[in-house]
Amino acid sequence: MLIKQIPIRNNLRNYMYLLACEQTLEAIAIDPLDHNLCLKVAADLGWTIKMVANTHHHHDHIGGNGPVIDATGAELVAHTEAMSAIPNVDRGVQAGDSLRCGKLRLKIMDTPGHTMSHICLYFSGTDAEQPALFCGDTLFNAGVGRCDFGGEPKVLYNTFVEQIFPLSDDVRIFPGHDYIRNNLEFTLDREPDNQSALNLREEFKQGLDAESFVSNIGIEREINIFFRLDQAQVRAGIGASALDDQSTFIGLRRLRDNW
Ligand SMILES: [Zn+2]
Repeated sequence: MLIKQIPIRNNLRNYMYLLACEQTLEAIAIDPLDHNLCLKVAADLGWTIKMVANTHHHHDHIGGNGPVIDATGAELVAHTEAMSAIPNVDRGVQAGDSLRCGKLRLKIMDTPGHTMSHICLYFSGTDAEQPALFCGDTLFNAGVGRCDFGGEPKVLYNTFVEQIFPLSDDVRIFPGHDYIRNNLEFTLDREPDNQSALNLREEFKQGLDAESFVSNIGIEREINIFFRLDQAQVRAGIGASALDDQSTFIGLRRLRDNW
């Protein structure tokens, strides 16, 4: 699979993605908010956009659909239950469905919590290529999506327990926003001795480019505080309400909302 991660550099620091079949150069555009930039990058690469996939209905993910589809005739794909909120969806998808583009195959995961109808797109990898997760606003580098725009923290926690935590360490992470620097600071606020987070923060200080940094699930288990619910320091920091992993996760989400 050919992957082009495109930073938009807007206030919300959205990422959009182009994923192409290596043989046919037919491509899927994920959440192509900056339509001009998306079309230009595809043209420069010689890729043909055949499909637009939205991870969820928030405007900063669907706002570029119309012009990209007008220019390419691409099929619009989204969660079945997001079809009422996203104009002109051609095909609703649900857990276990596949997206096909040339020889490229992606599996749909149904990952509610940030919104109640959110999909992630999973590439299972090959002998030569590690798996990859295009996770919208469910999982960020060193963080998770907020739940106060139509979501629910308990539901997001269940999504992580059932679908994200069990992923193998080598799954690469391609999120919907570039929030890693703030998220790392939050991890270190909660767990000041986290050596992996300290090391990564130092690498950014030394010039590591956040936009070219690709995390994976193994790294997230170390630097993402929402993966570290059983750590005594993390739990103690929530206080008496942190009775178990679920209440710790929800407590962290609440703290992060106001941080
Ligand atoms: Zn969102």
